[in-house]
Amino acid sequence: MALSALDIYKLLPKTNCKKCGSPTCLAFAMRLLAKKGSLEECPYVSEEARRILSEAAEPPIRTIVVGKKERKIELGGETVLFRHEKTFYHPSAVAIALADTLSEEEIEKKITAISALGFERVAQELKPEMLALFQTSTDKQKFLSLTEKVVKNSSLGIILISPHLPVLKEAMEVCRVVKPIVYLTSPVKTGELLDLVKKDTLPLVIKGENLEATLKLSEEIMAKGYKELILDVSGNNMRESLENLTILRRLAILKNFRPAGFPLLCFTQSKNKEQAVLEAGTYIAKYASIVVVDFLAREAHLSLLTLRQNIFTDPQKPVTVEPKLYEIGLPNRDSPLLVTTNFSLTFYTVSPEIENSKVPAYLLVTDTEGMSVLTAWAAEKFTAEAIAKAMKAQDVENKLSHRRVIIPGYVAVLSGKLEEETGWQVIVGPKEASGIPKFLRQLVWV
Ligand code: SF4
Repeated sequence: MALSALDIYKLLPKTNCKKCGSPTCLAFAMRLLAKKGSLEECPYVSEEARRILSEAAEPPIRTIVVGKKERKIELGGETVLFRHEKTFYHPSAVAIALADTLSEEEIEKKITAISALGFERVAQELKPEMLALFQTSTDKQKFLSLTEKVVKNSSLGIILISPHLPVLKEAMEVCRVVKPIVYLTSPVKTGELLDLVKKDTLPLVIKGENLEATLKLSEEIMAKGYKELILDVSGNNMRESLENLTILRRLAILKNFRPAGFPLLCFTQSKNKEQAVLEAGTYIAKYASIVVVDFLAREAHLSLLTLRQNIFTDPQKPVTVEPKLYEIGLPNRDSPLLVTTNFSLTFYTVSPEIENSKVPAYLLVTDTEGMSVLTAWAAEKFTAEAIAKAMKAQDVENKLSHRRVIIPGYVAVLSGKLEEETGWQVIVGPKEASGIPKFLRQLVWV
């Protein structure tokens, strides 16, 4: 819950001893509120106050880390209902269902197809992040073999789903090193559930008979000191699931109701692919941290992942590309060198035009914090010094036989200073990217 300065003050000793460096306890409370001070600075704060304040400082929805190394995914950690209020931190993960009733060959085929499922859009790689492994057969070996195959042949996160505690235990042994999410779908005492996951602090999915029962279970487990939880809020239909997602997010954010403050998981239920995409998209739009789907079609994932990208892209932060030296075509030591900024839209406007020219070239992308050419120049991020620094960092001097650099026409004003900074001849290119092909083809580059 967001505490006010007065709430924090009430928890402090109120002696105004000044040892924290603030003139009064209230001034210190205000520093804490502004996150400009640390509780450690007051030597007299009680343990109880420390506990309350550190709990209050936690985000209303806990961040749960799933997987390790390349499989690591962060879920939850959200603080608002709507992106425009601040930002959304962790995009919903898309998990693809894989059942142990499939044949060995079908499983291998599916894993290969899922691994190849990915798209690049505005310099971001879009792909599903997890596999949800279902034990639906009665043969435990099938589930164990499926788990083993996935650990070996896929780098995606893993959710183990089984109604049988002993089978789940064995499957966990198979994939313990990759920190799976664990989901026992049959009712069991909370003590047994915790025994299952405590040792490796594995994320545990829980679900009661209804939403109230799920929250009660969450409260019970929290009281036993375990907080690595994910709540399954799938309802009987899309409307019910959406309502559950919304109710829990509101309880967590607006009421700071801790049992609801965990990442939420939802299964799509429709067997119709188009309907399932709509379902998954709805859950992504409204608060699911994990959406489990069982379709594989590329067109379906393209729609879903693009939607997710748009929902979770912070409009306050421009989309950027990595600032570095890009090779377009097969440039050699005599090829032209052009410079631009790392605003994604600028890069994806300029680089295709260089390609269209059929003149192999180098494109040096400088770090302008995602600003376009003119904006970055006005904000003094695209300066002669910044370009010279990027040229040095990318060692262009040793990669090229010449000493000529082409800058965008809009920043022709940088020419003199850049020549001074680098000693290179500066050539002013066209103002618009559309002029690049003609410009490069006509360039006398000897
Ligand atoms: Fe108050 Fe603690 Fe600061 Fe002293 S050190 S003024 S008790 S907050």
